[in-house]
Amino acid sequence: MFNAAAHDAGKAAEGPAPLLSVVMPIYNEQEALPLTVERLRPILDDLGIGYEVVGVDDGSTDATPAIMQKVRQDWPQFRIVRFARNSGHQAALTAGIHRAFGDYVVSIDADLQDPPEKIPEMLSLARERNLDVVYGVRGDRGTDTAFKRRTAGAYYWLMRKLVGKKMPNQAGDFRLLSRAAVNALKAMPEHQPVYRLLVPWLGFPSGEVVYVREERVAGSTHYPLSKMVRLALDSITNFSAAPLRLATWLGMLSFVLCVALGIYTAVEYVRGETVPGWSSLFVGMLFLGAVQLICIGLLGEYVGRIYSAAQARPAYFVGYDSAEETDDGTRRV
Ligand code: UDP
Ligand code: MG
Repeated sequence: MFNAAAHDAGKAAEGPAPLLSVVMPIYNEQEALPLTVERLRPILDDLGIGYEVVGVDDGSTDATPAIMQKVRQDWPQFRIVRFARNSGHQAALTAGIHRAFGDYVVSIDADLQDPPEKIPEMLSLARERNLDVVYGVRGDRGTDTAFKRRTAGAYYWLMRKLVGKKMPNQAGDFRLLSRAAVNALKAMPEHQPVYRLLVPWLGFPSGEVVYVREERVAGSTHYPLSKMVRLALDSITNFSAAPLRLATWLGMLSFVLCVALGIYTAVEYVRGETVPGWSSLFVGMLFLGAVQLICIGLLGEYVGRIYSAAQARPAYFVGYDSAEETDDGTRRV
């Protein structure tokens, strides 16, 4: 349900007006969502083009679903896609991006950490310079904790090593995609897509908009350390088999060390000096044990992912999509 009048007005002004989709993953945001809607709506209304907001409810268990229904009642462009259960931020992004109708698709967090005021800037930059991707780049993370800043710094450093320099530093999931980029992403059968890596990997013409990462407006983060580690592991294994090669190198290194130690021990034996070194033996054993465990663990990371890819379970289930509703309230499907 789009603002057809505004859409047509835009069309008359400067060729075919694009349709904008704003994809917003939402999980237990009962405090933040009303504030986000209040700030986002006037900005989108002022654009003077047709738009939809795809709110993806990632299986919220608080008052969020009711709040979303209420928002939709007086904001018809606010579309609700609801997951049957919590499936994670990246899955919610996937559902939103796959279901969006827009010529341009902007993804944004629901907690106002990504300022919606930057959306018009992203859109005009993309249209003026004919770009397929506009990254929101975090200029200042002053409001994040020192721990988050440090781990994020390490994460982006490693990711740039894996994906290459075309990956902008400190670009999260606040970004604009053109229809062409969206279609390219939809064509990829990735099981656990990590968009902040996949999008630069596409190599489409891109630009950047710098923004200040604000403090979460209300509620608390849904990214505890365990989810951060999972995102990092997904990112690495999605993009590189380098850790497997690392295992090989570690194996070779420990083999060389073992040979050297063996020669040393043999020489000592020939000299007739008994080797007292049970301790070095012990250390050596520990070292080898550690190397083996690391390698098995790394293999497990990949095998686990091959396993889940072979199961080919969808990353999410949509229980409800307001776009599939007919006017008399029945489901179209
Ligand atoms: N989110 C989600 N599913 C989850 C966790 C988070 O859809 O399982 C949403 C959340 O509502 C927010 C966005 O993803 O809109 C970013 O999450 P959050 O703000 O908790 O992460 P942080 O900004 O602290 O990294
Ligand atoms: Mg946040």
